[in-house]
Amino acid sequence: MSAIMNRIKGKLVVSCQAYPGDPLEDTETIRRVASAAVRGGAAGLRLNGVKDIAAVRRDTGLPIIGINKKYWNDQLRITPDFASAAEVAHAGADIIALDCTNRAWPAGDPWQEMIARIHSELKLLVMADIATLAEALNAAAAGADMVGMTLNGYTEETSSSRGFSWPLLHDLVKQANRPVIAEGHISTPDEARRAIARGAWSVVVGSAITRPGVITAGFVQAMERPAPSGSAVAIDIGSTYIKSGLVDRAGEVSLADRFLTRASGGRDAIAAGASLAIQSALTLARERGIDPIGLGIATGGAIDARDGTVFGATDNLPGWAGFDLRGFAVDRFHLPTCVNNDAHAAALAELHFGMGRGVSDFVAITIGTGVGGGIVSGGKLMRGRLGFAGSFGHHTIRFDGRPCNCGRRGCLEAYVSTASLIHEYRELSGQLLNPNAEDAESALKISQLASAGDPCAVEAYSILAGYLGEAAANLFNILDPEIILISGGLVEGHPHFAAQVEDRVTNLIHFGAKRRPRIQMSAAGQFTGLQGAAASVFEAHDEALR
Ligand SMILES: [Zn+2]
Repeated sequence: MSAIMNRIKGKLVVSCQAYPGDPLEDTETIRRVASAAVRGGAAGLRLNGVKDIAAVRRDTGLPIIGINKKYWNDQLRITPDFASAAEVAHAGADIIALDCTNRAWPAGDPWQEMIARIHSELKLLVMADIATLAEALNAAAAGADMVGMTLNGYTEETSSSRGFSWPLLHDLVKQANRPVIAEGHISTPDEARRAIARGAWSVVVGSAITRPGVITAGFVQAMERPAPSGSAVAIDIGSTYIKSGLVDRAGEVSLADRFLTRASGGRDAIAAGASLAIQSALTLARERGIDPIGLGIATGGAIDARDGTVFGATDNLPGWAGFDLRGFAVDRFHLPTCVNNDAHAAALAELHFGMGRGVSDFVAITIGTGVGGGIVSGGKLMRGRLGFAGSFGHHTIRFDGRPCNCGRRGCLEAYVSTASLIHEYRELSGQLLNPNAEDAESALKISQLASAGDPCAVEAYSILAGYLGEAAANLFNILDPEIILISGGLVEGHPHFAAQVEDRVTNLIHFGAKRRPRIQMSAAGQFTGLQGAAASVFEAHDEALR
Protein backbone atom coordinates (compact mmCIF):
# COMPACT_ATOMS: atom_id res chain seq x y z
CA MET A 1 0.00 0.00 0.00
CA SER A 2 2.88 2.39 0.74
CA ALA A 3 3.98 2.00 -2.89
CA ILE A 4 0.95 4.06 -3.92
CA MET A 5 1.83 6.72 -1.35
CA ASN A 6 5.41 6.93 -2.58
CA ARG A 7 4.30 7.54 -6.15
CA ILE A 8 2.68 10.83 -5.14
CA LYS A 9 5.28 11.91 -2.59
CA GLY A 10 6.43 15.48 -3.24
CA LYS A 11 4.28 15.59 -6.36
CA LEU A 12 1.22 17.17 -7.91
CA VAL A 13 -2.17 15.46 -7.92
CA VAL A 14 -4.74 17.06 -10.21
CA SER A 15 -8.39 17.07 -9.26
CA CYS A 16 -10.61 16.79 -12.36
CA GLN A 17 -14.20 17.45 -11.45
CA ALA A 18 -17.11 19.26 -13.00
CA TYR A 19 -19.78 20.70 -10.79
CA PRO A 20 -23.50 20.16 -11.41
CA GLY A 21 -24.62 22.34 -14.29
CA ASP A 22 -21.04 23.05 -15.46
CA PRO A 23 -20.62 22.67 -19.25
CA LEU A 24 -17.75 20.26 -18.54
CA GLU A 25 -20.04 17.88 -16.62
CA ASP A 26 -19.56 14.99 -18.98
CA THR A 27 -17.47 11.87 -18.52
CA GLU A 28 -15.75 12.01 -21.91
CA THR A 29 -14.77 15.65 -21.23
CA ILE A 30 -13.41 14.82 -17.78
CA ARG A 31 -11.47 11.93 -19.32
CA ARG A 32 -9.82 14.31 -21.77
CA VAL A 33 -9.07 16.93 -19.10
CA ALA A 34 -7.46 14.20 -16.95
CA SER A 35 -5.48 12.98 -19.94
CA ALA A 36 -4.14 16.51 -20.53
CA ALA A 37 -3.15 16.75 -16.83
CA VAL A 38 -1.30 13.44 -17.08
CA ARG A 39 0.56 14.63 -20.17
CA GLY A 40 1.48 17.75 -18.24
CA GLY A 41 3.16 15.64 -15.58
CA ALA A 42 0.54 15.06 -12.88
CA ALA A 43 1.60 12.21 -10.57
CA GLY A 44 -1.96 11.33 -9.58
CA LEU A 45 -5.59 12.29 -10.06
CA ARG A 46 -8.54 13.00 -7.83
CA LEU A 47 -11.85 12.10 -9.42
CA ASN A 48 -15.50 11.97 -8.45
CA GLY A 49 -18.00 9.24 -9.20
CA VAL A 50 -18.02 5.78 -10.70
CA LYS A 51 -18.32 6.80 -14.35
CA ASP A 52 -15.42 9.27 -14.39
CA ILE A 53 -13.11 7.01 -12.38
CA ALA A 54 -13.81 3.98 -14.57
CA ALA A 55 -13.24 5.99 -17.76
CA VAL A 56 -9.94 7.50 -16.62
CA ARG A 57 -8.75 4.18 -15.16
CA ARG A 58 -8.79 2.70 -18.65
CA ASP A 59 -6.35 5.44 -19.78
CA THR A 60 -3.81 5.54 -16.96
CA GLY A 61 -2.08 3.54 -14.28
CA LEU A 62 -1.44 6.61 -12.11
CA PRO A 63 -2.78 6.62 -8.54
CA ILE A 64 -6.40 7.77 -8.39
CA ILE A 65 -7.94 9.29 -5.29
CA GLY A 66 -11.61 8.42 -5.68
CA ILE A 67 -14.54 10.21 -4.08
CA ASN A 68 -18.26 9.75 -4.39
CA LYS A 69 -20.19 12.95 -3.78
CA LYS A 70 -23.70 12.50 -2.46
CA TYR A 71 -26.39 15.09 -1.85
CA TRP A 72 -29.00 15.10 0.86
CA ASN A 73 -31.49 18.02 0.97
CA ASP A 74 -29.11 20.26 -1.00
CA GLN A 75 -26.22 19.42 1.28
CA LEU A 76 -23.12 17.79 -0.11
CA ARG A 77 -21.00 15.13 1.51
CA ILE A 78 -17.91 13.34 0.23
CA THR A 79 -18.28 9.54 0.21
CA PRO A 80 -20.78 9.37 3.09
CA ASP A 81 -21.38 5.63 3.30
CA PHE A 82 -19.61 2.36 2.74
CA ALA A 83 -21.66 1.49 -0.34
CA SER A 84 -20.50 4.63 -2.15
CA ALA A 85 -16.90 3.85 -1.16
CA ALA A 86 -17.22 0.32 -2.53
CA GLU A 87 -18.58 1.67 -5.84
CA VAL A 88 -15.54 3.88 -6.51
CA ALA A 89 -13.22 1.10 -5.34
CA HIS A 90 -14.66 -1.23 -7.97
CA ALA A 91 -14.40 1.53 -10.58
CA GLY A 92 -10.63 1.55 -10.03
CA ALA A 93 -9.70 4.06 -7.31
CA ASP A 94 -6.49 3.39 -5.34
CA ILE A 95 -7.28 5.67 -2.44
CA ILE A 96 -10.74 6.46 -1.08
CA ALA A 97 -11.25 9.97 0.28
CA LEU A 98 -14.09 10.59 2.68
CA ASP A 99 -15.50 13.30 4.88
CA CYS A 100 -14.05 12.89 8.40
CA THR A 101 -15.27 16.19 9.83
CA ASN A 102 -17.32 16.57 12.98
CA ARG A 103 -20.36 17.66 10.99
CA ALA A 104 -23.50 15.65 11.61
CA TRP A 105 -24.82 13.75 8.63
CA PRO A 106 -28.21 12.16 8.98
CA ALA A 107 -27.79 9.48 6.34
CA GLY A 108 -24.72 7.31 5.84
CA ASP A 109 -22.27 5.45 8.02
CA PRO A 110 -19.97 6.72 10.77
CA TRP A 111 -16.61 7.43 9.13
CA GLN A 112 -14.67 5.60 11.87
CA GLU A 113 -16.47 2.41 10.87
CA MET A 114 -15.93 3.14 7.17
CA ILE A 115 -12.15 3.48 7.57
CA ALA A 116 -11.97 0.02 9.14
CA ARG A 117 -14.17 -1.56 6.46
CA ILE A 118 -12.31 0.11 3.54
CA HIS A 119 -9.10 -1.34 4.94
CA SER A 120 -10.42 -4.83 5.67
CA GLU A 121 -12.95 -5.38 2.88
CA LEU A 122 -11.72 -3.17 0.00
CA LYS A 123 -8.00 -3.32 0.88
CA LEU A 124 -7.53 0.32 -0.10
CA LEU A 125 -5.96 3.38 1.48
CA VAL A 126 -8.09 6.04 3.14
CA MET A 127 -7.61 9.79 2.81
CA ALA A 128 -9.44 11.65 5.57
CA ASP A 129 -10.83 14.96 4.28
CA ILE A 130 -10.84 17.24 7.31
CA ALA A 131 -11.21 20.93 8.19
CA THR A 132 -9.36 21.21 11.53
CA LEU A 133 -6.41 19.78 13.44
CA ALA A 134 -8.74 18.08 15.96
CA GLU A 135 -10.56 16.28 13.15
CA ALA A 136 -7.25 15.19 11.65
CA LEU A 137 -6.09 13.76 14.99
CA ASN A 138 -9.37 11.85 15.36
CA ALA A 139 -9.08 10.48 11.83
CA ALA A 140 -5.48 9.43 12.37
CA ALA A 141 -6.48 7.69 15.61
CA ALA A 142 -9.20 5.86 13.70
CA GLY A 143 -6.63 4.56 11.21
CA ALA A 144 -6.79 6.97 8.24
CA ASP A 145 -3.68 6.59 6.08
CA MET A 146 -3.36 10.28 5.25
CA VAL A 147 -5.12 13.52 6.05
CA GLY A 148 -6.29 16.04 3.46
CA MET A 149 -7.04 19.70 4.18
CA THR A 150 -9.83 19.64 1.60
CA LEU A 151 -12.67 20.81 3.82
CA ASN A 152 -10.95 23.70 5.60
CA GLY A 153 -13.14 26.73 4.95
CA TYR A 154 -16.19 24.62 4.11
CA THR A 155 -17.45 23.73 7.58
CA GLU A 156 -19.27 26.08 9.91
CA GLU A 157 -16.35 26.04 12.34
CA THR A 158 -13.86 27.09 9.63
CA SER A 159 -16.10 29.28 7.49
CA SER A 160 -14.00 32.38 8.25
CA SER A 161 -10.95 30.75 6.68
CA ARG A 162 -10.13 32.35 3.31
CA GLY A 163 -7.62 30.81 0.98
CA PHE A 164 -5.19 28.04 1.80
CA SER A 165 -4.54 27.70 5.54
CA TRP A 166 -0.77 27.73 6.06
CA PRO A 167 -1.14 27.56 9.87
CA LEU A 168 -3.26 24.39 9.55
CA LEU A 169 -0.64 22.82 7.26
CA HIS A 170 2.02 23.68 9.82
CA ASP A 171 0.02 22.11 12.67
CA LEU A 172 -0.86 18.99 10.71
CA VAL A 173 2.72 18.38 9.58
CA LYS A 174 3.86 18.72 13.17
CA GLN A 175 1.14 16.78 14.94
CA ALA A 176 -0.98 14.57 12.68
CA ASN A 177 1.66 11.85 12.40
CA ARG A 178 0.30 10.98 8.95
CA PRO A 179 1.15 12.21 5.45
CA VAL A 180 -0.59 15.55 4.94
CA ILE A 181 -2.18 16.27 1.56
CA ALA A 182 -2.37 20.01 0.84
CA GLU A 183 -5.67 20.57 -0.91
CA GLY A 184 -8.08 23.47 -1.29
CA HIS A 185 -7.32 26.99 -2.59
CA ILE A 186 -3.84 26.19 -3.89
CA SER A 187 -3.94 28.44 -6.91
CA THR A 188 -0.38 29.06 -8.10
CA PRO A 189 2.67 26.91 -8.87
CA ASP A 190 4.57 28.84 -6.21
CA GLU A 191 2.01 27.96 -3.51
CA ALA A 192 2.22 24.29 -4.50
CA ARG A 193 6.00 24.37 -4.27
CA ARG A 194 5.83 26.10 -0.88
CA ALA A 195 3.37 23.54 0.48
CA ILE A 196 5.81 20.72 -0.31
CA ALA A 197 8.69 22.73 1.14
CA ARG A 198 6.68 23.13 4.35
CA GLY A 199 6.14 19.43 4.75
CA ALA A 200 3.05 18.47 2.72
CA TRP A 201 3.28 14.93 1.31
CA SER A 202 1.66 15.97 -1.94
CA VAL A 203 -0.48 18.77 -3.30
CA VAL A 204 -3.90 18.45 -4.90
CA VAL A 205 -4.85 21.27 -7.28
CA GLY A 206 -8.30 21.41 -8.87
CA SER A 207 -10.00 24.58 -10.04
CA ALA A 208 -6.78 26.44 -10.82
CA ILE A 209 -5.96 23.81 -13.45
CA THR A 210 -9.14 22.07 -14.54
CA ARG A 211 -11.96 24.61 -14.37
CA PRO A 212 -11.70 27.15 -17.21
CA GLY A 213 -14.86 28.88 -16.00
CA VAL A 214 -13.27 29.66 -12.62
CA ILE A 215 -9.97 30.70 -14.21
CA THR A 216 -11.78 33.04 -16.63
CA ALA A 217 -13.79 34.61 -13.81
CA GLY A 218 -10.53 35.35 -12.00
CA PHE A 219 -9.19 37.22 -15.03
CA VAL A 220 -12.45 39.13 -15.49
CA GLN A 221 -12.61 40.19 -11.85
CA ALA A 222 -8.98 41.34 -11.84
CA MET A 223 -9.54 43.41 -14.98
CA GLU A 224 -12.71 45.00 -13.62
CA ARG A 225 -11.08 46.01 -10.34
CA PRO A 226 -10.75 49.80 -10.27
CA ALA A 227 -7.27 51.17 -10.83
CA PRO A 228 -5.64 52.29 -7.59
CA SER A 229 -6.30 55.94 -6.92
CA GLY A 230 -5.55 58.56 -4.31
CA SER A 231 -2.80 61.08 -3.74
CA ALA A 232 -0.12 61.40 -1.09
CA VAL A 233 1.34 64.43 0.61
CA ALA A 234 5.12 64.38 0.30
CA ILE A 235 8.02 66.38 1.68
CA ASP A 236 11.69 66.26 0.78
CA ILE A 237 14.08 67.46 3.49
CA GLY A 238 17.39 68.72 2.13
CA SER A 239 20.06 70.79 3.84
CA THR A 240 18.84 74.06 2.29
CA TYR A 241 15.17 73.61 1.47
CA ILE A 242 12.26 71.44 2.52
CA LYS A 243 10.06 70.87 -0.53
CA SER A 244 6.44 69.88 -0.20
CA GLY A 245 3.66 68.88 -2.56
CA LEU A 246 0.77 66.60 -3.40
CA VAL A 247 1.64 63.65 -5.65
CA ASP A 248 -0.89 61.59 -7.59
CA ARG A 249 -0.69 58.02 -8.86
CA ALA A 250 0.86 59.15 -12.13
CA GLY A 251 3.66 60.95 -10.27
CA GLU A 252 2.26 64.39 -11.08
CA VAL A 253 3.27 66.90 -8.40
CA SER A 254 0.87 69.72 -7.57
CA LEU A 255 0.66 72.35 -4.83
CA ALA A 256 4.46 72.33 -4.75
CA ASP A 257 6.13 74.72 -2.34
CA ARG A 258 9.42 75.06 -0.52
CA PHE A 259 10.50 76.23 2.91
CA LEU A 260 13.91 77.02 4.37
CA THR A 261 15.38 74.11 6.31
CA ARG A 262 17.09 76.37 8.90
CA ALA A 263 19.50 73.49 9.55
CA SER A 264 21.72 75.67 11.73
CA GLY A 265 18.91 75.68 14.29
CA GLY A 266 19.36 71.93 14.80
CA ARG A 267 16.77 69.22 15.22
CA ASP A 268 13.91 71.34 16.55
CA ALA A 269 14.24 73.90 13.78
CA ILE A 270 14.38 71.25 11.04
CA ALA A 271 11.40 69.43 12.56
CA ALA A 272 9.43 72.68 12.77
CA GLY A 273 10.17 73.34 9.09
CA ALA A 274 9.07 69.82 8.16
CA SER A 275 5.87 70.25 10.14
CA LEU A 276 5.14 73.56 8.39
CA ALA A 277 5.76 72.01 4.97
CA ILE A 278 3.44 69.08 5.68
CA GLN A 279 0.72 71.29 7.17
CA SER A 280 0.85 73.61 4.18
CA ALA A 281 0.42 70.86 1.58
CA LEU A 282 -2.24 69.13 3.66
CA THR A 283 -4.28 72.31 4.11
CA LEU A 284 -4.14 73.16 0.41
CA ALA A 285 -5.12 69.59 -0.53
CA ARG A 286 -8.10 69.56 1.82
CA GLU A 287 -9.24 72.98 0.60
CA ARG A 288 -9.50 71.36 -2.81
CA GLY A 289 -11.49 68.44 -1.39
CA ILE A 290 -8.61 65.98 -1.62
CA ASP A 291 -8.05 63.63 1.31
CA PRO A 292 -4.51 62.24 0.98
CA ILE A 293 -4.06 58.52 1.64
CA GLY A 294 -0.76 59.05 3.43
CA LEU A 295 2.39 61.05 4.01
CA GLY A 296 5.72 60.31 2.37
CA ILE A 297 8.97 61.80 3.67
CA ALA A 298 12.34 61.83 1.92
CA THR A 299 15.25 63.14 3.94
CA GLY A 300 19.00 63.32 3.96
CA GLY A 301 20.63 60.92 6.40
CA ALA A 302 20.33 57.21 6.99
CA ILE A 303 16.82 56.04 7.90
CA ASP A 304 16.02 52.99 9.98
CA ALA A 305 13.67 51.15 7.63
CA ARG A 306 11.98 49.37 10.53
CA ASP A 307 10.52 52.38 12.34
CA GLY A 308 11.34 55.50 10.34
CA THR A 309 13.78 56.99 12.84
CA VAL A 310 16.87 58.83 11.61
CA PHE A 311 19.75 56.41 12.10
CA GLY A 312 22.46 58.94 11.36
CA ALA A 313 22.99 62.19 9.50
CA THR A 314 25.86 64.39 8.38
CA ASP A 315 26.59 67.90 9.61
CA ASN A 316 24.30 69.20 6.85
CA LEU A 317 21.39 68.29 9.14
CA PRO A 318 22.79 68.84 12.66
CA GLY A 319 21.03 66.97 15.45
CA TRP A 320 18.94 65.00 12.98
CA ALA A 321 20.51 61.65 14.02
CA GLY A 322 18.38 59.70 16.46
CA PHE A 323 15.19 61.66 15.70
CA ASP A 324 11.95 59.66 15.61
CA LEU A 325 10.85 61.31 12.38
CA ARG A 326 8.01 58.94 11.60
CA GLY A 327 6.65 59.10 15.15
CA PHE A 328 6.85 62.89 15.07
CA ALA A 329 4.82 63.08 11.85
CA VAL A 330 2.25 60.46 12.87
CA ASP A 331 1.62 62.21 16.21
CA ARG A 332 0.88 65.50 14.47
CA PHE A 333 -0.88 64.49 11.27
CA HIS A 334 -2.38 61.07 11.98
CA LEU A 335 -1.66 59.81 8.47
CA PRO A 336 -0.04 56.54 7.39
CA THR A 337 3.59 57.71 7.05
CA CYS A 338 6.61 56.32 5.20
CA VAL A 339 10.14 57.69 5.70
CA ASN A 340 12.93 57.13 3.16
CA ASN A 341 16.45 58.39 2.75
CA ASP A 342 16.77 60.60 -0.31
CA ALA A 343 18.73 58.07 -2.38
CA HIS A 344 16.09 55.39 -1.81
CA ALA A 345 13.39 57.92 -2.68
CA ALA A 346 15.20 58.69 -5.94
CA ALA A 347 15.28 54.99 -6.83
CA LEU A 348 11.55 54.64 -6.02
CA ALA A 349 10.76 57.66 -8.20
CA GLU A 350 12.66 56.07 -11.10
CA LEU A 351 10.90 52.74 -10.53
CA HIS A 352 7.37 54.17 -10.47
CA PHE A 353 7.51 57.28 -12.62
CA GLY A 354 10.91 57.51 -14.31
CA MET A 355 13.30 55.60 -16.50
CA GLY A 356 13.09 52.52 -14.27
CA ARG A 357 9.43 51.88 -15.16
CA GLY A 358 9.10 48.31 -16.38
CA VAL A 359 12.76 47.55 -15.54
CA SER A 360 12.98 44.83 -12.91
CA ASP A 361 16.66 45.26 -12.01
CA PHE A 362 18.43 48.60 -11.96
CA VAL A 363 20.60 50.81 -9.79
CA ALA A 364 20.15 54.55 -9.24
CA ILE A 365 23.19 56.60 -8.23
CA THR A 366 22.94 60.19 -7.01
CA ILE A 367 26.12 62.23 -7.08
CA GLY A 368 26.54 65.47 -5.16
CA THR A 369 28.46 66.25 -1.99
CA GLY A 370 28.36 62.47 -1.50
CA VAL A 371 27.19 59.43 -3.42
CA GLY A 372 23.77 57.96 -2.67
CA GLY A 373 22.42 54.74 -4.07
CA GLY A 374 19.27 52.70 -4.47
CA ILE A 375 19.07 49.12 -5.74
CA VAL A 376 15.93 47.79 -7.38
CA SER A 377 15.93 44.02 -7.64
CA GLY A 378 13.02 42.00 -8.98
CA GLY A 379 10.93 45.18 -9.22
CA LYS A 380 11.39 46.00 -5.53
CA LEU A 381 13.57 48.53 -3.76
CA MET A 382 16.12 46.63 -1.70
CA ARG A 383 16.26 48.25 1.74
CA GLY A 384 18.33 45.70 3.62
CA ARG A 385 17.85 44.79 7.27
CA LEU A 386 18.17 48.28 8.73
CA GLY A 387 17.77 50.39 5.60
CA PHE A 388 21.43 50.73 4.59
CA ALA A 389 21.27 48.76 1.33
CA GLY A 390 22.68 50.71 -1.59
CA SER A 391 25.20 52.77 0.42
CA PHE A 392 27.81 52.19 -2.24
CA GLY A 393 29.31 55.65 -1.79
CA HIS A 394 31.26 53.85 0.92
CA HIS A 395 32.49 50.84 -0.99
CA THR A 396 36.24 50.80 -1.53
CA ILE A 397 37.55 51.38 -5.03
CA ARG A 398 41.18 52.11 -3.97
CA PHE A 399 42.76 50.04 -1.21
CA ASP A 400 44.37 52.38 1.34
CA GLY A 401 43.29 55.31 -0.85
CA ARG A 402 42.07 58.79 0.00
CA PRO A 403 40.54 59.23 3.45
CA CYS A 404 36.73 59.31 3.49
CA ASN A 405 34.48 61.11 5.98
CA CYS A 406 33.16 57.69 7.09
CA GLY A 407 36.55 56.90 8.62
CA ARG A 408 37.73 54.43 5.98
CA ARG A 409 40.03 54.99 3.05
CA GLY A 410 39.48 54.65 -0.67
CA CYS A 411 35.66 54.93 -0.71
CA LEU A 412 33.94 55.83 -3.99
CA GLU A 413 32.68 59.02 -2.35
CA ALA A 414 36.29 60.17 -1.81
CA TYR A 415 36.80 60.04 -5.59
CA VAL A 416 33.45 61.04 -7.05
CA SER A 417 31.81 64.05 -5.40
CA THR A 418 31.73 67.83 -5.49
CA ALA A 419 34.94 68.03 -3.44
CA SER A 420 36.81 65.58 -5.67
CA LEU A 421 35.77 67.42 -8.85
CA ILE A 422 37.29 70.58 -7.38
CA HIS A 423 40.37 68.60 -6.32
CA GLU A 424 40.94 67.18 -9.83
CA TYR A 425 40.42 70.55 -11.51
CA ARG A 426 42.85 72.22 -9.12
CA GLU A 427 45.51 69.55 -9.76
CA LEU A 428 45.13 69.91 -13.53
CA SER A 429 44.89 73.67 -13.86
CA GLY A 430 46.88 74.84 -10.90
CA GLN A 431 44.03 77.31 -10.33
CA LEU A 432 42.35 77.61 -6.99
CA LEU A 433 39.19 79.26 -8.40
CA ASN A 434 37.84 81.47 -5.70
CA PRO A 435 39.32 79.97 -2.52
CA ASN A 436 36.60 81.56 -0.41
CA ALA A 437 33.73 80.09 -2.43
CA GLU A 438 31.54 77.27 -1.15
CA ASP A 439 32.21 73.87 -2.74
CA ALA A 440 28.87 73.95 -4.55
CA GLU A 441 29.69 77.29 -6.11
CA SER A 442 33.13 76.13 -7.31
CA ALA A 443 31.70 72.89 -8.69
CA LEU A 444 29.08 74.84 -10.62
CA LYS A 445 31.84 76.98 -12.10
CA ILE A 446 33.79 73.87 -13.22
CA SER A 447 30.62 72.40 -14.67
CA GLN A 448 30.11 75.55 -16.74
CA LEU A 449 33.76 75.54 -17.83
CA ALA A 450 33.45 71.91 -18.95
CA SER A 451 30.33 72.73 -20.96
CA ALA A 452 32.26 75.56 -22.61
CA GLY A 453 35.05 73.14 -23.56
CA ASP A 454 37.72 74.17 -21.03
CA PRO A 455 40.25 71.29 -21.35
CA CYS A 456 41.08 71.06 -17.63
CA ALA A 457 37.42 71.00 -16.63
CA VAL A 458 36.64 68.40 -19.31
CA GLU A 459 39.56 66.29 -18.11
CA ALA A 460 38.46 66.59 -14.47
CA TYR A 461 35.07 65.14 -15.44
CA SER A 462 36.69 62.34 -17.37
CA ILE A 463 38.83 61.39 -14.35
CA LEU A 464 35.67 61.21 -12.23
CA ALA A 465 34.00 59.09 -14.93
CA GLY A 466 36.93 56.66 -14.72
CA TYR A 467 36.50 56.25 -10.97
CA LEU A 468 32.75 55.88 -11.26
CA GLY A 469 33.31 53.31 -14.00
CA GLU A 470 35.25 51.11 -11.59
CA ALA A 471 32.48 51.38 -9.02
CA ALA A 472 29.81 50.68 -11.66
CA ALA A 473 31.75 47.62 -12.87
CA ASN A 474 31.63 46.29 -9.30
CA LEU A 475 27.87 46.87 -9.21
CA PHE A 476 27.37 45.10 -12.54
CA ASN A 477 29.35 42.15 -11.23
CA ILE A 478 27.55 41.97 -7.89
CA LEU A 479 23.98 42.87 -8.87
CA ASP A 480 23.75 42.27 -12.64
CA PRO A 481 21.37 45.18 -13.22
CA GLU A 482 19.95 46.01 -16.62
CA ILE A 483 20.90 49.66 -16.27
CA ILE A 484 22.56 52.14 -13.93
CA LEU A 485 20.90 55.56 -13.79
CA ILE A 486 23.01 58.53 -12.73
CA SER A 487 21.61 61.77 -11.39
CA GLY A 488 22.66 64.75 -9.30
CA GLY A 489 23.61 68.38 -9.80
CA LEU A 490 27.26 67.55 -10.39
CA VAL A 491 26.64 65.57 -13.58
CA GLU A 492 23.48 67.22 -14.89
CA GLY A 493 24.02 68.70 -18.33
CA HIS A 494 26.97 66.41 -19.05
CA PRO A 495 25.61 63.64 -21.26
CA HIS A 496 29.12 62.53 -22.23
CA PHE A 497 29.77 61.65 -18.61
CA ALA A 498 27.44 58.62 -18.74
CA ALA A 499 28.93 57.49 -22.05
CA GLN A 500 32.45 57.65 -20.59
CA VAL A 501 31.40 55.61 -17.56
CA GLU A 502 29.72 53.09 -19.86
CA ASP A 503 32.87 52.65 -21.98
CA ARG A 504 34.93 52.15 -18.86
CA VAL A 505 32.56 49.50 -17.47
CA THR A 506 32.39 47.66 -20.78
CA ASN A 507 36.18 47.33 -20.75
CA LEU A 508 36.35 46.30 -17.10
CA ILE A 509 33.80 43.52 -16.75
CA HIS A 510 33.95 39.97 -18.01
CA PHE A 511 32.05 39.57 -21.28
CA GLY A 512 31.54 43.33 -21.28
CA ALA A 513 30.96 43.48 -25.04
CA LYS A 514 28.31 40.76 -24.74
CA ARG A 515 26.67 42.01 -21.57
CA ARG A 516 26.44 45.55 -22.88
CA PRO A 517 26.19 47.38 -19.54
CA ARG A 518 24.00 50.46 -19.87
CA ILE A 519 24.70 53.66 -17.97
CA GLN A 520 22.30 56.54 -18.52
CA MET A 521 21.66 59.98 -17.17
CA SER A 522 18.40 60.05 -15.28
CA ALA A 523 15.65 62.30 -16.57
CA ALA A 524 14.57 63.00 -13.00
CA GLY A 525 13.74 66.57 -12.15
CA GLN A 526 13.56 68.68 -9.05
CA PHE A 527 10.61 66.74 -7.61
CA THR A 528 12.25 63.31 -7.55
CA GLY A 529 12.36 63.24 -3.76
CA LEU A 530 8.65 64.10 -3.50
CA GLN A 531 7.72 61.49 -6.12
CA GLY A 532 9.79 58.78 -4.44
CA ALA A 533 8.40 59.59 -1.00
CA ALA A 534 4.86 59.39 -2.40
CA ALA A 535 5.69 56.12 -4.20
CA SER A 536 6.60 54.53 -0.87
CA VAL A 537 3.15 55.52 0.45
CA PHE A 538 1.41 54.01 -2.60
CA GLU A 539 3.43 50.80 -2.25
CA ALA A 540 2.52 50.43 1.44
CA HIS A 541 -1.13 51.30 0.77
CA ASP A 542 -1.51 48.74 -2.03
CA GLU A 543 0.37 46.10 -0.06
CA ALA A 544 -2.10 46.49 2.83
CA LEU A 545 -5.06 45.96 0.47
CA ARG A 546 -3.58 42.80 -1.00
ZN1 LIG B 1 33.46 56.14 3.11
